[in-house]
Amino acid sequence: MGIFSGFKDLLGQINRIDGAVYTQGRDFADVYARNIALEEEIAVRTKELEQANQTILTLNSVWDMMNSSQPLSSLLDKIVSILHDDMGYVYTAILKLNRDENGNEYFSIMSSSEDKLVGSIFSLINENLQTYKIPYIENSIIEKALQEGQISSTPDMKGVLNMFFPMLNEEQLKEYVSQMITKSVIIVPLKREKLNYGCVVISSQRELTSDTEVNFLSLFANQIELAITVAGLFEEVKKQAITDPLTGIYNRRYFEDNIVKEAERALRLKQPFSVISMDLDFLKKINDTYGHQYGDLAIKTIANIMKKEARSIDIPARIGGEEFNLLLPGVDSNGAYIAAERIRKSIESQVLDTIGGITASIGVATFLEHSDRIDELIELADQAMYKAKINGRNQVQVSQGHNTNLNWQKLAIDAFTDILAKKRIPVDENFAKELIQKLNSSKISEQNTKDVLYSIVDMISKTYNQSYKEGTTKSKLLLAVMIAKKMQLSKEDIDKLQLAILLYDIGNVMIPEEIYNKKEPLNDHEYEIIKQHPVIAAREILKPISNIQDIIPIIEAHHENWDGNGYPSRKSGIEIPIMSQIVLLVDAFYAMTQDRPYRKAYTLEQAVNIIKADAGKKWNKELIDDFIFVLKNELI
Ligand code: GH3
Ligand code: MG
Repeated sequence: MGIFSGFKDLLGQINRIDGAVYTQGRDFADVYARNIALEEEIAVRTKELEQANQTILTLNSVWDMMNSSQPLSSLLDKIVSILHDDMGYVYTAILKLNRDENGNEYFSIMSSSEDKLVGSIFSLINENLQTYKIPYIENSIIEKALQEGQISSTPDMKGVLNMFFPMLNEEQLKEYVSQMITKSVIIVPLKREKLNYGCVVISSQRELTSDTEVNFLSLFANQIELAITVAGLFEEVKKQAITDPLTGIYNRRYFEDNIVKEAERALRLKQPFSVISMDLDFLKKINDTYGHQYGDLAIKTIANIMKKEARSIDIPARIGGEEFNLLLPGVDSNGAYIAAERIRKSIESQVLDTIGGITASIGVATFLEHSDRIDELIELADQAMYKAKINGRNQVQVSQGHNTNLNWQKLAIDAFTDILAKKRIPVDENFAKELIQKLNSSKISEQNTKDVLYSIVDMISKTYNQSYKEGTTKSKLLLAVMIAKKMQLSKEDIDKLQLAILLYDIGNVMIPEEIYNKKEPLNDHEYEIIKQHPVIAAREILKPISNIQDIIPIIEAHHENWDGNGYPSRKSGIEIPIMSQIVLLVDAFYAMTQDRPYRKAYTLEQAVNIIKADAGKKWNKELIDDFIFVLKNELI
């Protein structure tokens, strides 16, 4: 190898080294540049990722809200706060497109973020955020956004301000614009079920709206639209669950839920509330004469009147077919009477298609005044309504308050139900069932309950006394009450007396029928059975029924005579409860005026004479005076 070739080698080597150095240098520069680009890209992507993340988080929270069945208003408030607090916009408001009674469109503010500047404009123009109507202006940026269904933005702050507040003058507009840090306003249109719902107004500190921002806002808008739709549906479902479909007023469930809340409030604040119970008069006749749809028309008319006459806090409800209740929070019985009378007059003055006029009977009861129990209050309102019916309909009756009549009747119903259901008397099983059914069917209404009771006692009496006439129980009870009133007994005693009249003979069912209905005179043994047994039996039958215990002594003494010659304890004079004396007298009087197996009925005169003859012996003389007075003045 020569020097030349060696040099060539060296040169080649140098070149290689050089080449390598050069290549490496170029590589380094490349790598460096690429690194920088990559880093930049990473930064951009990270930012994008962060934004996407924020978008997902934001959309997610709207999604969560959508599924939480919140009222629409709180949903919109949250959306506004997300845009304001999380996304950093200066000011956000959600507007809803409405139509006034003349058909003109305007926007109302459903929700907005707090803003000093906006606040000061509202106080300057003396308007309220909740009631302010933003005019719908043709060719405005809002109209454009809604028409095109696209997000729009504008840097024209003065124009936007003028659109929202057309009453501001040029100077005021300039002044407000100068105070703004906002550089652009973005309008995001919103639809609900394909119709324009309104828009989101967003003011931003950036002048230009980037594509990323528009993308995010349109995604966000989709979520808001979904949320609005879902919340709207929830509200619809909720409304349906509490309203009566025929009349659109509240249903029974809503009324019952609210009366519980109202009672709690009333007890806490010691403030009354009233219940008006209302029933359409002669609806059956309307149905029968004109057809069901006119019956429905009458029902709807009543509901509309209730709605119209009620205050916003009152609760008008359809409780049943033709029964309505109105709950009046904070109203005492005087106020409720005035309200009820106004409703009654309004119903009376309506002229309905085909039917003509309708009327309603109305009852009023007031919590804390008439009762402090909800069930009793509703019963009292119903009873007052029923009283309005029997007094001639088309009138208002206020409850007489806690009705002790109701109590003795209820006690009697309970006692007979207990006696029959627990087989405390030996009657045929089917017969007992029939009576129990009758007792159960007795409505809360006073008149009906009384009739059921009379008929129960009549029917039981017939099982042992073939000649017991239907209607006798009622007559006995009326006579006993009249005598008791003449003797000025207390209401409490009169109630006990009425219960005793219904129950004093129950022990007779224990007497063998052949003895009770025997035509021949009884032997000593039989007489003893008929004398002693019923009283003992009555005590045994009634003893287990806890809430009628004070009736037992009255029944036990109802064969004692004034002079001490009665039985079983030979009590005399005032030892004998006066109520027992009345029971004895009424029992004897009706026994005498009815046929017995061993004798014919006495005439009224004969019976009175026999009773008179025993005055001061068998009975207290004053009692007989009152008895004769009642017979003469009130019965005959
Ligand atoms: P009163 O004055 O004593 O209330 O007489 P009334 O005929 O209104 O009362 P009654 O209780 O005898 O009859 C009620 C009728 O109301 C019987 C029932 O068919 C009818 N009714 C109940 N609900 C509806 C309803 O939703 N639509 C219609 N058209 N009638 C109804
Ligand atoms: Mg009716």
